[in-house]
Amino acid sequence: MTELIKSTAALAAMRRAGQILAKTQATLISALKPGVTGTELDRLAEKTIASLGGQPSFKGFEGFPASVCLSVNDGLVHGIPNDRPFREGDLVGIDLGVCIDGWHVDAATTVGVGTIDPADQALVDTAWAAFRVGFAKARDGVHLGDVQHAIQTVIEAGGYGLVRNLSGHGIGQTLHEEPSIPNFGTPGQGLVLHTGMTICLEPMLTRGSAEIVTDADGWTIVTADGSRAAHVEHTILVTDTGAEILTDSDRGHTR
Ligand code: MG
Repeated sequence: MTELIKSTAALAAMRRAGQILAKTQATLISALKPGVTGTELDRLAEKTIASLGGQPSFKGFEGFPASVCLSVNDGLVHGIPNDRPFREGDLVGIDLGVCIDGWHVDAATTVGVGTIDPADQALVDTAWAAFRVGFAKARDGVHLGDVQHAIQTVIEAGGYGLVRNLSGHGIGQTLHEEPSIPNFGTPGQGLVLHTGMTICLEPMLTRGSAEIVTDADGWTIVTADGSRAAHVEHTILVTDTGAEILTDSDRGHTR
C-alpha cells in the first residue's frame, strides 16, 4: 500500500535527497558544453550524487542503464546518455532521481547548449510557466484536476503539442506511485490533495505534434514528427497553505 501522506522522517529524507538532486543538476548544467558527451555527464552525475551521500534512483530502475536521463532535441524523456558530443544549439532534457534511506525525489529541466533558437527557448519558457501555474494551484483540499487543467491551459495557449501518453506521478518509496497526474484535466475532478502528499508535476510539450514514439534504443521517447520537445519537473510537497518544492537548490522554497 502506497503511503500517500509522508511522515516527518520520510520528508526529512526526501528534503535531503532534493538538495542532492538540485546540486547535481546544477553541476551537470555547468558541464554541458559543445563537445561534451552524455556518457561524460552520466559519470559526473553518478559521482556527484555519491559524493553527496545519495543514490541515483534511475540506475537499474526497470533496467535503465544510467544515473541520468538525457533527452536531446526531439528526445522528450528517458534518453540514454551516449557518446555523441553535444553541439551548439542542442536542447537537452536533464532528468534525475535521487534516493536517501529508501525515499526518492525526481526532477528535470531542459536547457540549451550555447545559443539556442528563440523558438526553442520559448518552448522551455512555456514548460516552466506551465509548471508554475500547476504548482500555484496545489494545496490541501484542491482537486488534482484543477492542477492538471492549469498546466494544460498554458501549454495549449502557447500552441504547443501536449503529450498525453506520459504523466506526472506520486513519489516516495518508489519513483512512480499513485496518483497518475496527466498534464490535462477537468477542474473539480480527480483526487483531492492533502497536506503531506508528495507529487511530481512534469509538463511535457513539443513544438509540433504531440505524438511520441520509442526510439530504437528501447528507452528514449522522441517526437513522432521530429519536432523539438521540452520536459521540466519538480517533486513538490502539498501543504496547508500551498506547496513546497523539494528539489530546488533554494531550500524551503514556497510561494
Ligand atoms: Mg517524474
